[in-house]
Amino acid sequence: MPRSSKPRIGVVVVAAGSGQRLGYGLPKAQVPLAGRTILAHALEGILASGVAERICVAVPPGDSVLRTVCTAASGQVPVTAVEGGTSRAASVSHALAGLGSGLDGILVHDAARALTPPEVFGRVVQALAAGAKAVIPAVPVADTIKTAVPSGAGQQAMAGEKVSGTPDRSRLRAVQTPQGFDAAALNAAHRSLAAMGQLEAEAITDDAMLLESQGTEVFLVPGSPEALKITTALDLMTAEALVAARSRTGQPAVEIERSSVNHPVPTMED
Ligand code: C5P
Repeated sequence: MPRSSKPRIGVVVVAAGSGQRLGYGLPKAQVPLAGRTILAHALEGILASGVAERICVAVPPGDSVLRTVCTAASGQVPVTAVEGGTSRAASVSHALAGLGSGLDGILVHDAARALTPPEVFGRVVQALAAGAKAVIPAVPVADTIKTAVPSGAGQQAMAGEKVSGTPDRSRLRAVQTPQGFDAAALNAAHRSLAAMGQLEAEAITDDAMLLESQGTEVFLVPGSPEALKITTALDLMTAEALVAARSRTGQPAVEIERSSVNHPVPTMED
């Protein structure tokens, strides 16, 4: 990635998930949030960040609703759509092909993180421009996290699982999207996917995993609590409340966050 000039950035949006856990009977990116689709909100955030030269969205096979959303959002920054795959990783691969060549950096963003503040995109691109090959936004973990294993044969009456360990919470981070990558490194990492089976591909829950496994250093920049992943009905209620708060105050999201909520700022010294 050239460090002096403005990097040429493409954005892949994965929006081909089924949304089963949301229970709406619609692909998740089609679900209405404050009267518009989740995908429309996600595209608005990307366009507002001003980082994208072009955007390619992976949509569910046979979808026409989300393709129309892409066409409506397309303007100075072209927004195209491709058919997604049977895993998130496969959907990213399809959209990378749709994005085309000639880019310095590529951001991969989950449509489900529809309310990610534009500033988060800026932080990721800034780190790429400074020379990082892989950058992900992250926030500290509030809960104590345990690892679990199935209970033993004689223990099933007590509980199905038991604790196998407690990782040091101060070193844990919950990671978000957009995840940013050097374009050549991401495309090369995705070529290795072609040789994988379905189960192996499904186990790749983010793109940083692919680059980590190839020895690339992945850097962390501060994410945002507003970049929540809309997965359940409760998440959708939270997102509705956030959109309402943004329109009530007329403030950009990060300003709401700073003025009314006392969130810890992630420390990146680890
Ligand atoms: O299933 P999960 O919530 O982890 O999906 C994360 C993102 O990946 C969502 O935005 C979803 O639409 C997308 N996805 C996809 N293709 C799949 C599965 C998930 O684009 N086959």
